[in-house]
Parts: sequence; C-alpha cells; structure tokens
Amino acid sequence: MNNMLELTAISKQYPGGVQAVDQVSLTLKAGELGVLVGPSGCGKTTTLRMIAGLEKPDQGTIRIRGQAVDGQRPQDRDAAMMFQSSALFPWLSVAENLAFGLAKKNLDRRTHRSQIEAIARQLQLEDLLERKARTLSGGQRQRVALGRALLKEAAVLLMDEPLSSLDRQLRLQLQDEILRLCRQRGQTTLLVTHDQSEALNLADRLVVMNQGRIEQNDIPQRIVAQPATLFAAQFIGERPINLWTVRSAAPQSIFQPSQIVWPDGADTVVIGVRPQQLRARRLNSASGSEEAALMGEVVIERFHWTGAQRFGSGRLGGSPVEFSLPEGVNSQIGDRVVLSADASALHFFDPETGRRLS
Ligand code: ATP
Repeated sequence: MNNMLELTAISKQYPGGVQAVDQVSLTLKAGELGVLVGPSGCGKTTTLRMIAGLEKPDQGTIRIRGQAVDGQRPQDRDAAMMFQSSALFPWLSVAENLAFGLAKKNLDRRTHRSQIEAIARQLQLEDLLERKARTLSGGQRQRVALGRALLKEAAVLLMDEPLSSLDRQLRLQLQDEILRLCRQRGQTTLLVTHDQSEALNLADRLVVMNQGRIEQNDIPQRIVAQPATLFAAQFIGERPINLWTVRSAAPQSIFQPSQIVWPDGADTVVIGVRPQQLRARRLNSASGSEEAALMGEVVIERFHWTGAQRFGSGRLGGSPVEFSLPEGVNSQIGDRVVLSADASALHFFDPETGRRLS
C-alpha cells in the first residue's frame, strides 16, 4: 500500500448553495508531487482545507496512509499545511518560528537545535536563524514557512499558493527548492496554484479543476499532448490553443478534409490546434510533408514571443489564429503566409460536452 493520500468522491457545498467541490477523487502515491490547478473559485483551496481537516466534506472519504481521517481534528491528521501568506510570529526569531513545526516536541533541546539547523541549511536560512521574522524579506519568510511545514514531517504536505506573493525570479528559485526538498525527502505533496506554468514545472501529477470538478488528472506531458476536455486544452498551454467549430457535412475550406481523420459519428466538432504545431511558411515555398492538414492563408497582424520562439497571429475562417514562425521565415506584419499542421496535431472535441472525441 503506497497510496499516501486518497480522496474518494468528496464534495462540499457552502451555505448559500455554492457547490465548491463536486465528487473529487484523487490519489497520490508516496513521494509524488501533485498539483491542483484551475481558475479562481474552482474549489482548489476548499479541497486542501478538507484534507487538512479545516473544512468537513458533505460526502466522500479522505484517507491518509490508508487510514480514513474523517473524524480527526486537524492537529491529529498526518498532514502539514502551508498557506499563501503563512503567518510567522513577527516578534520571534527565525529559529523560534521554525521550532513551531517540529514533529516530536519531547526531544531534547540539542536534537531540536540540530533539526532546525539542518532545515535552515537546506533552505539557505543559516545566517538568519537569530533574526526576528518581521525583518525578513518576502522570499525569506516563505522559506521559513516552508521549513516549518517540512519540520512537521507529516505524511502529506499541503501547500496553498505558496509562491504567489513573490516576484517571478524568486518564484522560479523557490519552485526549484520545493522540488529538490520534496524529492530528497520523498515528501508526498499536494500543491495548489492558479499559474499553469508553475503547475507544469512542479507536477508529477497534474490535476486540472473547473467548477468544483476534475477535468483531467494525469502526468503533465499527457495533459498537454492529449487534453481530455476543451477546458483542459484551453487552460494548459504556453499560448492559447486555436479552436474552430466545424460541421462534417460542410467542412470549412480552411481544412483539407481528405487529410482529416473525422471522429466516428460526429456531426459538429470543435477542432483545436496548438500554436506550436501550426506552422507558417511563405506563400510560394515548397509544401511540407504530405500528411500536413492544410489550414489556409493568413495575413500576419501581430507577433508574440515566448522565450526564443516567435509566434504570429491573424484571422482564419472567421476566428483569430496564432501560429509559430519557424526560424528562417522572415515575415513582417502584413505578409501572407500559409499555415499547416500535421493531422496528428489536431484535437477533436464534442461542442456540447467539451469532451475529447479522438
Ligand atoms: P482561488 O484560486 O481564488 O483561491 P479556489 O479555487 O481556491 O479559488 P475556493 O476558495 O475553494 O476556490 O472556493 C470555491 C468556491 O466556494 C468559490 O465560489 C468560493 O466563493 C466559495 N467559497 C469558499 N469559501 C467559502 C465560504 N466560507 N463560504 C461560502 N462560500 C465559500
């Protein structure tokens, strides 16, 4: 039995009728780092609070190390929680703040001290141990809060937007530290964020939530490559996915129908193509592979950059479209380009249910 955390169909409705969490089931194995991601209000924090025992589910069961924890008080659960703005005691030193996390309170002072020093070393807080918490920077405070949560040595570490108050550079740095520490300790962790790039950086297992429900729960690569729903396709991805609603009886001229493997029985579908997989080439250049599903001609209206990659955007079939501009395509605003994508890069969704069709 190496399931450290197991949620079985947990639900929570708040007074006033908000169904914050709706039949959520989820399992984390020992040492796994799970990330709950989704838009504001989708139920991420409520899920974490139910695991920590701060909120009682209306239905469903929560197990930690295989034991149902339904009747247990927060302090009796084998879980540590780190909040977005984990409050430190401002007038106490870093060492004293860390000591609040210590798992075994009855150890002698020397053992206490060595545990605190060990975690301080791992989090680069050694020189700050005697400083008052109120004199720390935001990033240093987050480190202390992380150290305090880790010192609890709980089976499950719960982190609610632990990095959202930090600037980008610090966030990236602390993301690395969280990863390193969780790996080193084999710490089972469930982290909440609304930032999809943070989710992709951290997750062994990514859980996309929307309106209290899980849209997809899988390894990050598969969510990017094979989104299970339209929502997951739109929420995860460095640039917004392109979408067209197309009827099989009258496919729009932008698609080369003979090259599209139409899902069985579908009448109308939403076709999604990620900008990374939609390549532009100059109008008169030789075509790419024979399998490419041709998407038509576009006038470049804007450029977008992500890192070293360049994207263009314009309109195609009445919808906005974004596409990659491979190196060597020296296009300018106003140029016409031809777009193509491999047939395998096309995602099909049911327009009614939003579910993936093939
Ligand atoms: P965010 O990313 O903004 O923190 P979230 O995904 O963590 O959002 P929750 O905080 O779990 O979402 O909230 C889910 C829903 O439940 C929201 O509609 C919220 O307004 C509602 N809600 C949360 N706490 C309460 C409460 N104590 N009483 C009533 N409604 C609540």
